Amino acid sequence: MPILVMKFGGTSVATLDRIRRAAKRVGREVANGYDVIVIVSAMSGKTNELVGWVNETSQFYDAREYDAVVSSGENVTAGLMALTLQEMDVPARSWQGWQVPLLTNSAHGAARIEDIPPANILSKFAAGMKVAVVAGFQGVSPEGRITTLGRGGSDTTAVAFAAAFGAERCDIYTDVDGVYTTDPRISDKARKLDRIAFEEMLELASLGAKVLQTRSVELAMRFGVKLRVLSSFEEMDDNAGTLVCAEEDIVESKAVAGVAYSRDEAKMTLISVADRPGIAAAIFGPLADAGVNVDMIVQNIAEDGRTDMTFSCPIDQVARAEKAMTDAKTRGEINFHDLVADKDVAKVSVVGIGMRSHAGVAATMFKALRDEGINIKVITTSEIKISVLIDRKYMELAVQALHDAFELEKA
Ligand code: ASP
Ligand code: MG
Repeated sequence: MPILVMKFGGTSVATLDRIRRAAKRVGREVANGYDVIVIVSAMSGKTNELVGWVNETSQFYDAREYDAVVSSGENVTAGLMALTLQEMDVPARSWQGWQVPLLTNSAHGAARIEDIPPANILSKFAAGMKVAVVAGFQGVSPEGRITTLGRGGSDTTAVAFAAAFGAERCDIYTDVDGVYTTDPRISDKARKLDRIAFEEMLELASLGAKVLQTRSVELAMRFGVKLRVLSSFEEMDDNAGTLVCAEEDIVESKAVAGVAYSRDEAKMTLISVADRPGIAAAIFGPLADAGVNVDMIVQNIAEDGRTDMTFSCPIDQVARAEKAMTDAKTRGEINFHDLVADKDVAKVSVVGIGMRSHAGVAATMFKALRDEGINIKVITTSEIKISVLIDRKYMELAVQALHDAFELEKA
């Protein structure tokens, strides 16, 4: 039997009624001839509640016990989903991560999947079981302790199962009906995409599009897992949702597939640092050690042996970055006249694999921003992405202007 992986996110299993509706979809795929692996999240809000309880109990908590607590939400939905399927006369049972087993490393709270030996589940399928309901987000460490994969990790569980079992597809059921050209809350012209390439989705996910955990997209790309994002709230036909797939499966790509944004950015500039070999290492080494996620970097042209170095990072890491820089100055590793933080910026990006073959994308982007009178503070580019840092108050306007400029409302 071909295998299908179906993942239901927190809102899709939020109540017993929602679980019943999800189970009906699973039943339909069983009737279509699939053996189904269902991956479930915790009921929406549950994981936040569990994390809150841990924090209230212990300030510097034992990460192994954190995982023991926060993984439990998925155990509940896995059991309830299996029961619901049984009530519908679909042979099903639940599996916790350690029972599969889903083997991870020991990085509690952010564990990485090492292996998923398929033998246990396959032997149950061979014996007539139709659905394996697996608790997402959790696994077991080499020490035999429960681990979790990081927030949003059940997407990654789903993709890993699809890869390990050679599933025909991995359907991710959520509360939106697919991946959009931009956030529909910002532009009412946002359009659902029928297909998007792995690389584009990876950029959009890491830029903060919340539909899929970034690691799940990385994994899907690496193993060529066909991913479909679709809504469990609407009745949809078989081609509904958005297919995340290899570039070759996208017939013709426009230059730009989507516009993404990140609201909580900060721009930091070290004024007048020495222009000498090793200066970038002396700056970004301590920032990395301090856990600052540096994104964009710009080094100005030097004058009289001095230069300015600008970088961006998440706004809540500004204090940490400032401390790392002043400490490095105190240790005599770097010298600078001033450190200026601008906390009123946002990042707006256009993403598309079509950029590789279409010329003039940057020009179109900059013209659209100019026409709205929006000043660009920092620019970075990659093969399939152009990002700009602008004043936060223009973020929505910029997203809308770029969506119009690249005519993303048109298919
Ligand atoms: N329940 C976990 C979370 O909220 C994992 C997931 O749903 O993906 O992060
Ligand atoms: Mg999620």
